[in-house]
Amino acid sequence: MQTFDVIIIGGGWAGLTLARQLKLEQPALKIQVLEARQGFASKVGEATVEMTGHYFLKRLGLVNYLYRRHLPKNGLRFFFDSPQHDRPLEQLSEHGTTAIPPHPAFQLDRARLEEDLMQMNREQGIEVLQGAKVVGWTVAEGQQKHQLSYQYQQQEYTHQAKWVVDCSGRHRVARKHQKLHKLDNVPQNFAAWGRFKDIQDIDSLGSAQWRQKAFGRFLSTLHFTGDGYWVWFIPLSGGYTSVGIVGEQAKFERWPKKQDEFLHFLNQHSAIKELLHGAELIDFEAWGQLAYRADEFLFRDRWATSGFAAMFLDPLFSGGGDVIALLNDAISQQIVMDFNEPDDDIANQRLAQQVPQYNQMAKEFYQGLYAHIATIYPVLDSAELANAIAAYNTSAYFVEIAWDYMADHYRDLEYWQRKSYLRRGYMALELMLQRQILSARHTMLQQDRYFDRNHEGFFESGADHYKYFVYLMGQSGRDGWRIDLRVKLFTEVFLRITQAKLDLPNLAHRRVVQQCFTLVDILKAPLFDEQDLPQLLCRLGEKISQWVSEQSDNEFQVTVERHSFHSNQVVVTSDTDVTQQQLDKAQHLANQLWQQTDEFIAMPSMVPVFLAFAREQPDAIMDSVVDQRLLFDPAHHHTHEQADTATDDVEVAL
Ligand SMILES: Cc1cc2nc3c(=O)[nH]c(=O)nc-3n(C[C@H](O)[C@H](O)[C@H](O)COP(=O)(O)OP(=O)(O)OC[C@H]3O[C@@H](n4cnc5c(N)ncnc54)[C@H](O)[C@@H]3O)c2cc1C
Repeated sequence: MQTFDVIIIGGGWAGLTLARQLKLEQPALKIQVLEARQGFASKVGEATVEMTGHYFLKRLGLVNYLYRRHLPKNGLRFFFDSPQHDRPLEQLSEHGTTAIPPHPAFQLDRARLEEDLMQMNREQGIEVLQGAKVVGWTVAEGQQKHQLSYQYQQQEYTHQAKWVVDCSGRHRVARKHQKLHKLDNVPQNFAAWGRFKDIQDIDSLGSAQWRQKAFGRFLSTLHFTGDGYWVWFIPLSGGYTSVGIVGEQAKFERWPKKQDEFLHFLNQHSAIKELLHGAELIDFEAWGQLAYRADEFLFRDRWATSGFAAMFLDPLFSGGGDVIALLNDAISQQIVMDFNEPDDDIANQRLAQQVPQYNQMAKEFYQGLYAHIATIYPVLDSAELANAIAAYNTSAYFVEIAWDYMADHYRDLEYWQRKSYLRRGYMALELMLQRQILSARHTMLQQDRYFDRNHEGFFESGADHYKYFVYLMGQSGRDGWRIDLRVKLFTEVFLRITQAKLDLPNLAHRRVVQQCFTLVDILKAPLFDEQDLPQLLCRLGEKISQWVSEQSDNEFQVTVERHSFHSNQVVVTSDTDVTQQQLDKAQHLANQLWQQTDEFIAMPSMVPVFLAFAREQPDAIMDSVVDQRLLFDPAHHHTHEQADTATDDVEVAL
């Protein structure tokens, strides 16, 4: 029986990156990776975001490798269609980058990645066996070692290890020993996908004017959205394009689980049809219930889970790789600490102290990502609402999650504990925003305005929102400034959603509104509605009156009406004796002030307001139901029995 320091079950994304990370962080570790499959096949999960990019570049040192063997990613790109999905690509409204963003992310060819990583692992001195299927695992207790049996070349072997990490994907070897996974409070989404050969080059389609708006659209993860679903396009360096549908089960009577249904569904969308013209489907796969959660991924008995084997949320915003980065960091930190500590009692004490904290961190990370996606799913098909939230989510991701990761804050448990009240505050804001979005959706559908901006063909650059701070990401010690940014982002998007809900053009970007409608006001009226409007109009009028009077020799009263948002005009009067010329001048000035727009202005005075609000939030908010439709809308509530069966259905056949 051979003995290893670490045995990793499964040589996929999670297992192979963890093995490399461990060996880089502690070269003396004796590591074995057992992979059941022979050969390499395409796998789902191909687009990375910036936190994962950072993990690959900084932790794994793979910068040269990734740029040579895979494709750089040009951010996320959303296209919004008419409800009939009958518009040509060029007429769809679009949210996306104009050029490749500064923090690297990649489109990964999974078969190539795993083949290359396996080779690199072997060169590092890691023992990697292919065709080795783990069939038994006796979990160690106390100071004993784990015993692991596997079949390899028609023989059964048993090895022992101080640490075992289950990276066996959705097969989840560890669940045979522990009921780890739960289906309550998770998205109930399915996916169907395949790889296509010879799709049309998006950068050669459309008019010259349309092409000029953005460069390298093909390098983005494209999202075509519909009611409760979205379709991805991801380019792969091997020449194929990955195309998939992710949808909410509750929105489909029958979701497209067969190849012909999949193709039929895609071809019902004119713009997608344009891209697929002449393309050939190479392979196809479909999974039912995608998401499951777990309270623990790390155990004091020296075992852990990572990747699909640990938990999975949803493909939207490509967070799978981020979860792997977070979990692998924690696992490798514990293993290396344990290996370097000669005194087992001290190591055990540290494990006892740190393991629960890392588990809590993973749980909160999952909840945070879930809150982000739950906010956008209900309005994916509205250009006006989804565009605002996509901009907000991306920026919030950079200011919060990715920034903390790049600054190594997730590896600093003391920092992470100290900041827990901030996460509670952000979660409370997110839930508040979600309620306003659901309310906006309801109002706009009732008033037949919900799709108005979908096929307008507008282009919004996603980068506009984060261009000011993105170069500073990863620095420590700027928390006050980050809180200011985060609160500003929230306020801006809240105003944009309210603008759409109440049909108040340019509400969010009028300078006077930004001064009169702050976080303080939102906290007082979190579902800001028609009945709250008169009070705001009054305040806006008073503010402009004050500005106009300050710049004149006379007193003027400015009245802002609902109509002023559409006409861009306000009404100016004066109780004092003024000439017509003075009145005209004041009128001109008041209109100018009313029309003055601004990118979102700094409001450092809101930081203490937010901090007080955050400190009031209970710990339990981190466990709250983050898709609030589940609370109100029975149509979105599948029973757990249904979902459970669906998850078992997708177990990987080996
Ligand atoms: C529809 C969809 C789209 C996604 N899109 C993205 C995306 O764009 N970006 C992103 O970051 N993430 C995405 N994800 C998530 C991403 O796919 C996963 O995070 C990632 O693939 C998980 O890798 P893994 O190593 O855990 O699992 P896998 O890559 O499945 O590896 C598990 C390995 O374990 C092996 N194995 C299983 N059982 C045994 C056994 N008994 N013994 C030995 N070996 C065994 C298997 O053969 C397999 O090779 C997506 C997920 C889904 C469902």
